[in-house]
Amino acid sequence: MYGLSEQDLSVQARARQFADELIPLEVATELAGGEIPPEQEAAHKARAIELGIFAANIAEEFGGTGRTSLQQVLIQEQVGRVTNALAWSCATPPSWLPAVATPDQIARYVRPTARGDRSECYAITEEHAGSDVDAIEATAARDGEDYVLNGIKWHVTSFNSADFAFFQAKLSNGTHAGEHAMFFVDLPTPGVRVVRTPAYSHTFGHHHPIVAFENVRVPAAQLVGAEGDGMHFAYEWFRFERLMVAARCLGGAERLIAEMTLFAKERKVGGKPIAEYGAIATMLADSMTELYAARALTYETARGIYAGADVKVAHAQCSMAKLFASEMAGRVADRAVQVFGGRGYMREYAAERLFRELRVERIWEGTSEVQREIISRQMVKRGPGALA
Ligand SMILES: Cc1cc2nc3c(=O)[nH]c(=O)nc-3n(C[C@H](O)[C@H](O)[C@H](O)COP(=O)(O)OP(=O)(O)OC[C@H]3O[C@@H](n4cnc5c(N)ncnc54)[C@H](O)[C@@H]3O)c2cc1C
Repeated sequence: MYGLSEQDLSVQARARQFADELIPLEVATELAGGEIPPEQEAAHKARAIELGIFAANIAEEFGGTGRTSLQQVLIQEQVGRVTNALAWSCATPPSWLPAVATPDQIARYVRPTARGDRSECYAITEEHAGSDVDAIEATAARDGEDYVLNGIKWHVTSFNSADFAFFQAKLSNGTHAGEHAMFFVDLPTPGVRVVRTPAYSHTFGHHHPIVAFENVRVPAAQLVGAEGDGMHFAYEWFRFERLMVAARCLGGAERLIAEMTLFAKERKVGGKPIAEYGAIATMLADSMTELYAARALTYETARGIYAGADVKVAHAQCSMAKLFASEMAGRVADRAVQVFGGRGYMREYAAERLFRELRVERIWEGTSEVQREIISRQMVKRGPGALA
């Protein structure tokens, strides 16, 4: 099905094996507040490396496993079947980085992240700059051989486990003043402190704190690419990550559909399985149909990227995949809770956890509203035929 090659099927099977090994740990992790002991997290990462699914988006010459876009989707789809971010240990370091990193940065950041020895976090969003990244107020001032960084960043995912942060700011002096730049900030570095760690809907060991960067001094060699390049990297990351969000939503929906179908077959009400009631059958059928459509769209987008699609077309198609798959997964999760009845509201059921966890897929990496803006802009510019 879906025209997967032998190699695709092998990658998919290994990723599925990884997910199946983690699923039994979910309930204990949920009830422990999402926290995973560091040695357990390290063991999961080692297992992903052993299975050849870690850093699938990084070329082999930089230490990754260099998989095709479709294979990356197949892996992240399985990651999405697991709740509580347990499978995030199968990391995807920034694939745009090798092309712009200096040899020193490749040695200090690219190779160690591809090996699983270091991990990153992204400090871009601010209190008054989320959808509109250009509204950031963080500053980077050149001072001799250094830059001095200032800003307060929100929702910095995985800050509590990261070894370094990508910090995005606007340059406050020099020929590129007012333009964006991105920096590596090793953690810990003097001047970087957690303001607070808010609680979120999901129960993850990966926190999303508000982090203050106060007169953080970094050597000029910590600049990523050139001054003025900052937004370019953000777009590269969005394109990749939106496709991976779509992939994980497919996995979440697949898990929900499998569990609700089984439950609907076994749960008897009024002397017959609830699957025989039209209202329940409709929820099953609609969920399956929408998953099939979202999967076809996501796989096709991945194939197009690997075949060298125009970057603007790929950008809009990744937005379409994220928009459709995340909204599909949200509908499927809502139905799954309903099919499970009272059990669907219990944290020990995957339906309840995925109902909470999948909600953010419509928000982060660009909200659904922002994806619609991107898609419609490209339709007007290039004509609908260019996108599908
Ligand atoms: C759990 C979590 C983890 C995150 N992790 C990170 C991270 O690691 N690093 C990071 O930098 N950021 C991170 N984010 C931030 C995330 O990317 C932003 O929350 C998201 O882009 C939306 O920005 P905002 O919250 O400021 O909402 P706003 O931009 O204030 O949007 C509010 C509402 O207005 C709508 N809106 C905005 N613009 C338009 C428009 N043009 N047309 C129509 N409607 C519009 C939005 O869709 C939304 O409904 C994370 C967020 C969450 C919730």
